[in-house]
Amino acid sequence: MGGADRSLAVFWHPDVLLHDTGAGVFEAAASALMTSDELHPESAPRILNMKAILERGPLAASVTWEPVRLCAEDELRLVHSSEYLDELRRVSQDGARRLSATTVLGRGSWPALLAAASAAIEAARAALAGPDRVTYALVRPPGHHAQPACADGYCFLNNVALAAEAALRLGARRVAIVDFDVHHGNGTQECFWTRSDVLTVSLHMDHGPWGPTHPQTGSVSEVGAGPGAGYNLNIPLPYGTGDAGYELAMRDLVAPVVAAFEPDLVLGAIGQDASQFDPNGRQTLTMRGFHTLGEILRSLADRSAGGRLALIQEGGYARSYAAFCLHATLAGALGVPSEIDDPLAYMPDPGIGVAPAVRTARDALAPHWPALSEPD
Ligand SMILES: [Zn+2]
Repeated sequence: MGGADRSLAVFWHPDVLLHDTGAGVFEAAASALMTSDELHPESAPRILNMKAILERGPLAASVTWEPVRLCAEDELRLVHSSEYLDELRRVSQDGARRLSATTVLGRGSWPALLAAASAAIEAARAALAGPDRVTYALVRPPGHHAQPACADGYCFLNNVALAAEAALRLGARRVAIVDFDVHHGNGTQECFWTRSDVLTVSLHMDHGPWGPTHPQTGSVSEVGAGPGAGYNLNIPLPYGTGDAGYELAMRDLVAPVVAAFEPDLVLGAIGQDASQFDPNGRQTLTMRGFHTLGEILRSLADRSAGGRLALIQEGGYARSYAAFCLHATLAGALGVPSEIDDPLAYMPDPGIGVAPAVRTARDALAPHWPALSEPD
């Protein structure tokens, strides 16, 4: 073990396993044309593998496992409407139902949602208390597609938005959310659209809108409105973007904006579905790329937020590889080498062909952020 100078506080509540998404044709309902169903991709085993690698891997000596105090429903109302929360609870108690073609809610889901939101809030609270620990909420279901009154993707409650609101209530003046889940963080964007106290950054594959629950495009033109204009930074990246492209976008765009924003807390919405083997992503990150992303998050927090960094789990559906990529991210965030060989890294990295996309995003944000107009 390389000797991390900070420990990793992992916020974990076993109720996150109670959300049962069932099986079928991947995320779709079962088909009579098939003889073998497979688990819905957002399943408990993906999180159990992540938990296992933290318990059994080289970070184990740096990890403390933190119990989660369940939050009050009042805290959920900082982001979500009462009507929406009542509906989620009622549908969960009534039994399994698909809210959309891919979004499943069943008995056990409500306690899981509450546990996930609570863990995210606790992780933010602990990170705000001091920079001696990096904090991480190991949760499911993910949250970044959830809007104030709308479930989307596999998400119901916006865990990272709730964490940001909790941090503001605890005295943080500004919070920066950096989301590198492979999908657009449309729910988080929606939650803070007119706000200048929360900077929302989303790097994502350029998938565009996907129906009534996800009308947002994720384009660079969606910068926020009113007092929030300029405080939403979308960085759509071309399909096939790999380690070098993500690093370029983080260093050239995200780092100067976050530094200029001067947050009191950096929240990382970390998914692993930008990995080269994720069924739901079309990007090609390896463990090495995720390690770099973790390092950059840490340096952003060190440089501009007094080292205060909290990470919230989002997507990542390659059931084994996502856990390896999570390990790499967290090792990077702790400033130590991964010490685990990548079991699957054999796809070629496409290099930095992403530069035009980064330039486009930079041009869109430069009017709001003078730091982006300064010469390199
Ligand atoms: Zn995702």
